[in-house]
Amino acid sequence: MSKIKIEHGRLVVPNNPTIPFIEGDGVGVEITAATQKIINKAVDKVYSGSRKIEWLEVLAGEKSFNSTNSWLPIETLDAFKEYLVGIKGPLTTPVGGGIRSLNVALRQELDLYVCLRPVRWFRGVESPIKEPQKVDMHIFRENTEDIYAGIEWYAGTPEAKKFPESSSFGVKPVSEEGSKRLIKAAIEYTIESKLPKLTIVHKGNIMKFTEGGFKNWGYELAEREFADSTFTRNQYEAIKKNDGLEQANVALNRAKTEGKVYVDDCIADAFLQNTLLSPENYSVIATLNLNGDYISDQLAAMVGGIGIAPGANINYVSGHAIFEATHGTAPDIAGENCVNPCSLLLSATMMLEYMGWKEAADSITSALESMFKEGRATHDLARFIDGATTLTTSQFADEVVELL
Ligand code: NAD
Repeated sequence: MSKIKIEHGRLVVPNNPTIPFIEGDGVGVEITAATQKIINKAVDKVYSGSRKIEWLEVLAGEKSFNSTNSWLPIETLDAFKEYLVGIKGPLTTPVGGGIRSLNVALRQELDLYVCLRPVRWFRGVESPIKEPQKVDMHIFRENTEDIYAGIEWYAGTPEAKKFPESSSFGVKPVSEEGSKRLIKAAIEYTIESKLPKLTIVHKGNIMKFTEGGFKNWGYELAEREFADSTFTRNQYEAIKKNDGLEQANVALNRAKTEGKVYVDDCIADAFLQNTLLSPENYSVIATLNLNGDYISDQLAAMVGGIGIAPGANINYVSGHAIFEATHGTAPDIAGENCVNPCSLLLSATMMLEYMGWKEAADSITSALESMFKEGRATHDLARFIDGATTLTTSQFADEVVELL
């Protein structure tokens, strides 16, 4: 079995890498089958049979519990640790105390500190905004800290008793290291993808030490560690104050000509409004955990909803990455062969890009562009498109394979 490795900060990918996958519960069965069929075909076609993914099934969720009595067997964690890159379908969250969310457990165990959610529009897909073609954003959501760390005290406990009796509490840890490693990943991604701008989204106007700290550490990092490849709004403002507006604009234009990334920031509430009014002003976003949760779903809704939104959880230092469907197990439609497989499929496409197999990823994206342009989609999208053809999950996969 060939393993993906990381050497000197770069992934080394063999031609036949083993990729562990969790099929997922509910609709996971259908979307995983459709995704693997399309990925296998794209890789085979683009690389003329010289590359092939060796899929290795690992268990988690309900399927795992039913056969092993464990929701997340240690072998599954070990496989993701060993093979670095993996993919997963949605998992049923166990009901009842004592078991953490399986997704959170995987993220924590592998320290997957970046949640990356690219958001783009496919021509033909119905959107609630006027000009969805202007949406092209890449959200870097911090995945390990913030109020999501789950440090809480229930009402009535000794810690909570210092405050009004009926209060429960949660703690919002935001560290310099945690903020900087997330923003570093976002800056490097912006540079490598030749994107123009990085926006730090925060509520530092209210939460000065946590959200404000995130913003300040972000600027500090850009100005100190990426001085040659970024120009920040802080630097722009400083020139404006000392030398006037004209000089500041000269410096900004020079930075643009030199291909530098412009780093600015935006308050989270204004950002949510701005993305609806002028989405073209944003490219890469770096934000904390809770903001990132809201932002990811709003932006996904702007381009067609959860059935089509991909996502990945990544540790760029260790190389560990899990690509995943962003929706749940959709028990209401499971087994009906009507689920949209595109969230997992586009996540798998991100995985190919992460592995450096960009040509195969591009071939899938082009096939999907053709499908949606022709109004050929699963029910969730087709019902909103005039004159669309509604396809089953397997018909959709077969047609994409045909296009490849
Ligand atoms: P859900 O995402 O499963 O479903 C919400 C609605 O969206 C449903 O009507 C569903 O039919 C529809 N939908 C979702 N994905 C779709 C797709 N690809 N194509 C067409 N329609 C789609 O959310 P839920 O109902 O709140 O959760 C169901 C289960 O999934 C719960 O056990 C929950 O804990 C779990 N869940 C898991 C994950 C994960 O593993 N990442 C994420 C969210 C929810």
